[in-house]
Amino acid sequence: MIEIDGSEGEGGGQVLRTSLALSIVTRQPFRLFNIRAGRKSPGLKKQHLACVRAAKQISNAEVSGDAIDSQELIFTPEGIYPGQYRFSVGSAGSAALVYQTVLMPLVHADAPSFVMIEGGTHAAWAPPFDFLQHTFIPLLERMGVSTALTAERLGFYPAGGGLLHARIHPWHDRERFGLLELMSTSLSATAYFSKLPADVAQRELRKVRQAFVLDEDVLNAVEVKSLGPGNALCIYCHSPQVTEVVTAFGKRGVRAEDVAKSAIREMLEYLEAGAPVGQHLADQLLLPMALGAGGRFRTLEPSGHTRTNIDTIRRFLDVTIDVAEEDGSWLIEVKT
Ligand code: ATP
Repeated sequence: MIEIDGSEGEGGGQVLRTSLALSIVTRQPFRLFNIRAGRKSPGLKKQHLACVRAAKQISNAEVSGDAIDSQELIFTPEGIYPGQYRFSVGSAGSAALVYQTVLMPLVHADAPSFVMIEGGTHAAWAPPFDFLQHTFIPLLERMGVSTALTAERLGFYPAGGGLLHARIHPWHDRERFGLLELMSTSLSATAYFSKLPADVAQRELRKVRQAFVLDEDVLNAVEVKSLGPGNALCIYCHSPQVTEVVTAFGKRGVRAEDVAKSAIREMLEYLEAGAPVGQHLADQLLLPMALGAGGRFRTLEPSGHTRTNIDTIRRFLDVTIDVAEEDGSWLIEVKT
């Protein structure tokens, strides 16, 4: 049984999701204690429990400690069972994080799966749908993974009600991954809004347009039908190598201009660093690379999530992951 102290490193929910995925793929049981000890309200919340339940279903695992606020979990998977599943976060918690929990196990199955996930699609502190669609999945495809994701409905905090549909196919040919350069970039932006005045989206886009001197035709205000009110501003950086997406979320009491400012700041940081892999993407690429044919990428200074994910992966897999600073950016190499 692999023993993991959830208070180490980032001390959040990611160590749980990575452990669930790797436990199923490698058929190794684990005990996770001090769950989310680094957070203000520790233990399993709805969001995390949804990941545990999804992982349990696809692996027919024996589980103890899968309750709200639980700070200890024991997870013993039986196998990997592809099929048709419907999972629900039961809040605006991220549907994307449930998708990422089951994705790597299900690509290791011997038949395709179809997975429906209800929850938030554009929630703070999690990968928004646009990021998965434009950034994460195309890079996984380069590693040989075959998955298709659609958002049937968008869901914002606090009402949720989003719905993702995912098709996940067995992973046949593993390709070594490489992403070192960022060249010939161009920007565009989309502001989603639901049950709010269109003016919110227009004001955000105006700010983005001014900050980056963009043409009107690369800016899109998109009204969506969602369960509750919501707003998300995505700025995309397109290049032949990768499309990176930064996102800021509208919040009651926060001016549209200030929402735009935070997305603009994050995009400027990315552009100034000149490395193709942004901070969020870096921590999310590690798991598929470690289970695939490895590879390397250039990124910004590794976040706590990246470092913690490296430590968690090393607990389950015999891989080497090197992190080195080089000419103002960072090189991460995964050797399998
Ligand atoms: P906790 O509540 O304990 O923080 P959590 O499960 O909600 O747990 P984290 O452990 O913080 O979340 O993990 C969040 C994941 O979402 C990380 O992989 C992070 O890179 C990713 N993420 C957060 N914000 C974004 C964003 N704007 N774009 C893409 N990915 C994001």
